[in-house]
Amino acid sequence: MLIYIAGAGAMGCRFGYQLHEAGNEVILLDNWEEHIEAIKENGLKITGDKEDNVKLPIMKPNEATRKAELIILFTKAMQLPSMLQDIEQIIDENTKVLCLLNGLGHDEVLEKYMPIKNILLGVTVWTAGLAGPGVAKLSGTGSVNIQSLDKAGVEGAKHIVDVMNEANLNVEYDEDVYPSIWRKACVNGTMNSTCALLDATIGEFFSSETAEEVVLNIIHEFVKVGEATGVKLDEKEIIDYVFATSKAAAHHYPSMHQDLVQNHRQTEIDFINGYVARKGRELGIDTPYCQLITDLIHSKENILGIK
Ligand code: NAD
Repeated sequence: MLIYIAGAGAMGCRFGYQLHEAGNEVILLDNWEEHIEAIKENGLKITGDKEDNVKLPIMKPNEATRKAELIILFTKAMQLPSMLQDIEQIIDENTKVLCLLNGLGHDEVLEKYMPIKNILLGVTVWTAGLAGPGVAKLSGTGSVNIQSLDKAGVEGAKHIVDVMNEANLNVEYDEDVYPSIWRKACVNGTMNSTCALLDATIGEFFSSETAEEVVLNIIHEFVKVGEATGVKLDEKEIIDYVFATSKAAAHHYPSMHQDLVQNHRQTEIDFINGYVARKGRELGIDTPYCQLITDLIHSKENILGIK
């Protein structure tokens, strides 16, 4: 299968590498010059659970010309519209476009660029990192849930599930993926922004005296807004999941800490707590915790001069 990875950063390299190893034709799309040069010259290097080096084609999105069978989107959330603009020429009526970004509201963005029969929406708990241009650090295991937004696309989506499972990506077809997307957003919405603001590991934040109250209030806001948009959410199950995740990842700094504090890069806050605050306003639901957290993250971005 001809598969493009649109956004060949940490996660894009993981999925691209595994799908290439399973025998698919994989083309990486990115616009980061040093990364492109490194992969063209030395191949994509893999470190972590295993060491490897593979020759994978990489180019800028607007240089791609062949129509895709599958495109997997792995930009950061705020980079999605510009990527979608640049890959319009490789999408035709048979192309499936799978969005696995963290955060909420990506379906609304995707629908502006293509018919819903092209769109697969999903969520993943795989992780990945970059150890520099052209070097992906892959460890641990994960899974993916996906759903076709259009009923007419279910059969095609199940074929994609099979192709991805041949690459050991542990993919399940989900008749309703939205609860899983919102549950993952609750994990990100309780840990990412708080740990970035407090310059703390997940364990440090969760063992602080006020953490429980803050976390429960954030989850409650996500659940109220999610349910008002028609998503079925089990608040008790989400609370258990968030606290279990916090224990398993206690020693980690979440990705927003890495983006904001360590690398001074723009965050995905507008698609996590910011999305809940925005939707809450539209729906007349108060979301004081999500609103304050979003404002404070933006303040920190401003203080650090991040555009
Ligand atoms: P990343 O920053 O490592 O990769 C994004 C890549 O997209 C970069 O290489 C960037 O150059 C490229 N890009 C962005 N806009 C582009 C454009 N318009 N044209 C060409 N290239 C463009 O990010 P990541 O860590 O791989 O995360 C991707 C998504 O997956 C995010 O939504 C993130 O929250 C989510 N996610 C990440 C992890 C993780 O462990 N890293 C786990 C689960 C989900």
